[in-house]
Amino acid sequence: MSPALHRLSAEMVFIERGWLNANHLAFLGGGPLALVDSGYLEGLDETLVLLTQAGVAPEVVDLIVTTHLHCDHVGGHAHIHERSGCAIALSAVCRRAVEQQDGWAAWWRYYGQAYRFFPTHRTLADNDVLRLAGLDWRVLETPGHAGGHLCLFAPETGWLISADAVWDGDFGVLTPRIEGWEAPHRLRMSLRRLAALKVTTVLPGHGPPIEDGPRAIARCLERVEAFLAQPRRLAEDQVRKILLYHLMMKGPLSAQELWQWEMTLPWLQETCQIYFAEPARQVFERYLGELLERGLVGQDQGRLYSHLPA
Ligand SMILES: [Zn+2]
Repeated sequence: MSPALHRLSAEMVFIERGWLNANHLAFLGGGPLALVDSGYLEGLDETLVLLTQAGVAPEVVDLIVTTHLHCDHVGGHAHIHERSGCAIALSAVCRRAVEQQDGWAAWWRYYGQAYRFFPTHRTLADNDVLRLAGLDWRVLETPGHAGGHLCLFAPETGWLISADAVWDGDFGVLTPRIEGWEAPHRLRMSLRRLAALKVTTVLPGHGPPIEDGPRAIARCLERVEAFLAQPRRLAEDQVRKILLYHLMMKGPLSAQELWQWEMTLPWLQETCQIYFAEPARQVFERYLGELLERGLVGQDQGRLYSHLPA
């Protein structure tokens, strides 16, 4: 059950959240007092409580490492920086988008999430090494789910901080209209690169730590291959995941209210134009019905809510 704290060593805590708030990590010594990612903006109060439980007062953070720009990973950045004066590090691709306050790259314009931009201080390049919790972490640029997406790999232990590139047999939603039509190809290249490492445990952006890292990476590779073979599967996955996220963000609400809100955003109409030769309303109803049938979405007096932990 999330949230949960997993102490991986004396100096490193994995903070498991849900699906609206990405997981994060706290590095307590053996290098700067650092965080990887900071949850969703509207989950900030819970983030601060969890950090305190993990042994990190927001005032003493030295560094936040950003895996990528999405709302569920950066929601606490600005607040924690204001309290601590910490440096915020990210890839050059992400840094440019943040400095330009690019609401499309950050996805909030496309998917309508809560977002707050933040100052940036340090660029992380592919193959840079960060000393955190007494381990050397290699920075790996792993685009696909997001431009400038970073993973961190510690060769000494085989631990891989995978963010949204690898979950347990799945990965973060692919959004070709924002990330480029080659997004699934890029993800495949990123996964092949990860598959070539001596990974033990994967510490994903969502879900608990994954003990059999190589198997998780192999399953993600199979999944992206299937998306490349049948592009419509990519779109089906996108519609299911975003409807679920939106119910986590906005629910409980009626199907009509959810539909009306979706129509104020570009993503569903565009996805339907590209991948489904049918009206958006039909697509919306089909996948919402499927989520209800699979028990991922519940209904109480005509109002829908997500069963996944936020
Ligand atoms: Zn993401």
